[in-house]
Amino acid sequence: MTGAFITFEGIDGSGKSTQVRMLASVLRLRGMDVVQTREPGGTPLGARLREALLDAQEQVDPLAELLLYAADRAQHVRVMLRPALDAGRVVLSDRYADATVAYQGAGRGFEPSLVAEVVALATGGLKPDLTLLFDLSVAQSGERSRQRTTAADGGAHGHDRLELEAEHFHARVRDAYLQIAAAEPERVRIVDASLSVEEIHAHVLEIVVPFLENRGQWSQVKTQ
Ligand code: ADP
Repeated sequence: MTGAFITFEGIDGSGKSTQVRMLASVLRLRGMDVVQTREPGGTPLGARLREALLDAQEQVDPLAELLLYAADRAQHVRVMLRPALDAGRVVLSDRYADATVAYQGAGRGFEPSLVAEVVALATGGLKPDLTLLFDLSVAQSGERSRQRTTAADGGAHGHDRLELEAEHFHARVRDAYLQIAAAEPERVRIVDASLSVEEIHAHVLEIVVPFLENRGQWSQVKTQ
């Protein structure tokens, strides 16, 4: 049986990873077989690529950046995502191919046709069944990223290389995400990420539960 592939997208600080964790834990409590992963860095090779890609000290050429994200994704699709989906698991990924369209396409300015080709090569055509787009203003996401940076770890988290990009870069990325959602309203659902963590979580469940029910992947799980 084919599993379900759900991706979480949005600009940095929009609350994606918080919501991936919360949804994964609810689905697991219901007895579902969940894989929680992310891009970049979902595989051991990807973790090493992630370190290089997000290192604020690293000078990464934009073309090298595009290809490194593609390499991370190629490994992720072949080693983790396809096998998990073939085994019928529910896969939740913090970012996937839409991020390349938004960041390397709109953010860095690569031609949409080139980006589409690189994405097609890396994914081998694997598309998410559902994408949740956490939409937040650039000002609010910046505020959250700053809070995370100065939080309990005494600021040890620091800002990664992409977080340090200028505000207009993040604004282009946000707009690109909204355009993707407008072009594919069936697959991409916009979530208002300015709400509280609990309100957003409730909205996520309102989208994900019927989605899994329609696929016959909710009813099979144990009730508490
Ligand atoms: P992302 O994965 O999109 O970068 P995170 O989930 O790491 O975002 O959240 C960024 C920061 O904002 C974290 O410190 C997190 O605790 C906080 N945060 C997440 N969701 C909310 C929310 N709805 N309201 C306020 N703060 C939030």
